[in-house]
Amino acid sequence: MLEIPNSDKLEEVVAEPISPMLSIADIKQLSHEYAKRKIRCQITVKKVDVNTNWYDNVCTTCGDEVQLQEGRFRCEKCVRNIPFPDKRFRLATICNDETGVLAILLPDDEIQRILGKNAFDIEYDENEVSAEITFPPSLKSFEKKQFVVTLLITDQNVKKTCSVYNAIELNDPVEVLGNHSPLKKQDITSDPISETMVVDRTPDTSSSPPTGKSTTKVRSRTTDGEASDSMYENVPLAKFKIVKTEKK
Ligand SMILES: [Zn+2]
Repeated sequence: MLEIPNSDKLEEVVAEPISPMLSIADIKQLSHEYAKRKIRCQITVKKVDVNTNWYDNVCTTCGDEVQLQEGRFRCEKCVRNIPFPDKRFRLATICNDETGVLAILLPDDEIQRILGKNAFDIEYDENEVSAEITFPPSLKSFEKKQFVVTLLITDQNVKKTCSVYNAIELNDPVEVLGNHSPLKKQDITSDPISETMVVDRTPDTSSSPPTGKSTTKVRSRTTDGEASDSMYENVPLAKFKIVKTEKK
């Protein structure tokens, strides 16, 4: 049976057909009516915080974060011990645009979608976590990437009692805005991460540049006989796959 939306629902749909695109300076000034609302912002990830945990242990029932208490993980909400908690990416970043910087937590499901891996995959990959590697390179590689982030503004954000913003969606600016301006080369070549980024699917939008195949391969560094090939020009962020290169 077809459900007729009540006036509340209807209002909700009409009021927010697409989240407004704001600058970081605007986001910091949002008034209380923006609490619990979504807004969008085009940012560059300036820094990934490698000093905080890159995942949370979460309750397998309710999804809340669980803490170790006397050697056991316990969910306060479910009031039970969790023998084997689930793991959720927790990526704390400092992002910027031309108007300022903003601390943003990137969402687990979007990180999974972009990497094609979940937190367990990363934790048990010796190229990501080992005695020598303290922070997974795949997560660190979010640095210098551009996204259109959708933020869910909290009460605390508008009351200015919390300056960390929660992202719920990450999109490629090219796909969202149809903007084909390529990333600056200096941004890419200054990236200390030595992964090769490979397009794992043929770009499926007709607006994609015709250089999406192997012709975009750029030999970015040839010093000391060490070379890393990067294909990055206009690569839709949601579609790349990060492949580790062997260290010699
Ligand atoms: Zn729980």
